[in-house]
Amino acid sequence: MKKFNSIKNRVTIYYAMVIIVISLVFSLMLSLSIEKQVSLVTEDTLIKTVQNSLDDIDYENQIIEIDNDFDSYSQGVTLLVYTESGQLIKGKTPKDFPAYTPLSSSEIQEIETEQHIWHIYDLYQNYDNGQGLWVRGIYAMDDALHSLAAIRHVMLLILPLLIVVAVFTGFKITKKAFEPVSEIAETANTINSGYDLSKRLPLNNSEDEIYQLSETINKMISRLEESFKNEKQFTSDVSHELKTPLAVISAECEYALSSDMSTEEYKESLETILGQTKRTTSMVQQLLQISRSFNKEQYVEKEIFNLSPLAEGTIAELSSLASDKGVQLISDIEDDIYINADETLLVRIIINLVNNGIKYMDSSKENPYVKFTLKKDSNQLVTLEVSDNGIGIAEENMDKVFQKFYKVDKSRTGSGESFGLGLAMVKWIVETHNGTISLSSQLKEGSIFTVKLPIE
Ligand code: ADP
Repeated sequence: MKKFNSIKNRVTIYYAMVIIVISLVFSLMLSLSIEKQVSLVTEDTLIKTVQNSLDDIDYENQIIEIDNDFDSYSQGVTLLVYTESGQLIKGKTPKDFPAYTPLSSSEIQEIETEQHIWHIYDLYQNYDNGQGLWVRGIYAMDDALHSLAAIRHVMLLILPLLIVVAVFTGFKITKKAFEPVSEIAETANTINSGYDLSKRLPLNNSEDEIYQLSETINKMISRLEESFKNEKQFTSDVSHELKTPLAVISAECEYALSSDMSTEEYKESLETILGQTKRTTSMVQQLLQISRSFNKEQYVEKEIFNLSPLAEGTIAELSSLASDKGVQLISDIEDDIYINADETLLVRIIINLVNNGIKYMDSSKENPYVKFTLKKDSNQLVTLEVSDNGIGIAEENMDKVFQKFYKVDKSRTGSGESFGLGLAMVKWIVETHNGTISLSSQLKEGSIFTVKLPIE
């Protein structure tokens, strides 16, 4: 990953930008508000000092009396007393103050000279003798402005420091927060480079978003591992199943070619070869169907049809096979069961289950039978049941018989069309029709396969 492209860096940059903007806006507002506050405080002090000073001045019978309490310089304010005609009678004009500034009883005036900024407040007081006096308050804003400048300086110094600390801490926090992501990437890389699907991403203790992400990825890896395992198993099973008929064909050919045989014997050889070829073709066909169905490529053509006559027809076709094997095929089919399903696939369910009942019959049984039942349940379900009194299935194998290529008796490879694919196919068909399949069986007693399909 390119360094500058990492989320860590991007988050830090965005975060730093936000911090800088917030700090600048905040400092500007703080500075403006301090300035405003300072100017309000000084104006207030100036006005009050001038007003209070009037208490110390009296003007009676042409005599101006100024108390000893009169302070010419109080709280930063220089106080000057003028006669009505503008003659200074008390106080000393501060240095550099433009003395010609006319007296005016207005609001506070601001005068700027080269060295200073002055705030002036003039107040005229009329006395009983008809005479008046002016009191002027002068406040040099320099002190306040100096303090303000000092505050700004401190802010200018602190601000970059604050930004650096914030960015640094931000970077550290983001780095810490993204540490598990780097770990995930590293583990994912090891899994990828070594094709080791048994590895899992580390899960942190806090069940946060990263935990959820890792958990989801772990589930995905588990599914991949499972499907790769199945794929491997499938390939090995297919090769294994193909090996036997091919070996028989090859041996039969070699034998026929190496010896002088009668036409009858050649015929026998060819029949063996044909038998094995048919078996292989049948297996390949089943495999194709199964792989298509598992890849969801098989097109399921659903339509509403009467299942009862179709089941009767199929059972009738299978009865000769049953009687050949000495098995009694009993059927109990309810009339007019209409269902929305794929006709061909439902026939396949019946053939596979009944065929298995016949195939896995216990030859020592006195009354070998396979019973097929089709009835409509009250709750809009069709129940299709195939029971037999055959060899039965041991409890530990009951789930496995629905897996592809699983055969309880592995030695049955050579016989007929036993590939261990039939029940896997049945299970797939049932599930595609949103139905369920269950098995109850007892070894040496028999088995019952129950399929429940929704009518709609
Ligand atoms: P196949 O019959 O081609 O071997 P299936 O998928 O139809 O494959 O069945 C898988 C295995 O389940 C069979 O090999 C057999 O061992 C067992 N099985 C299936 N049906 C029955 C049954 N009715 N009675 C006893 N065992 C059965």
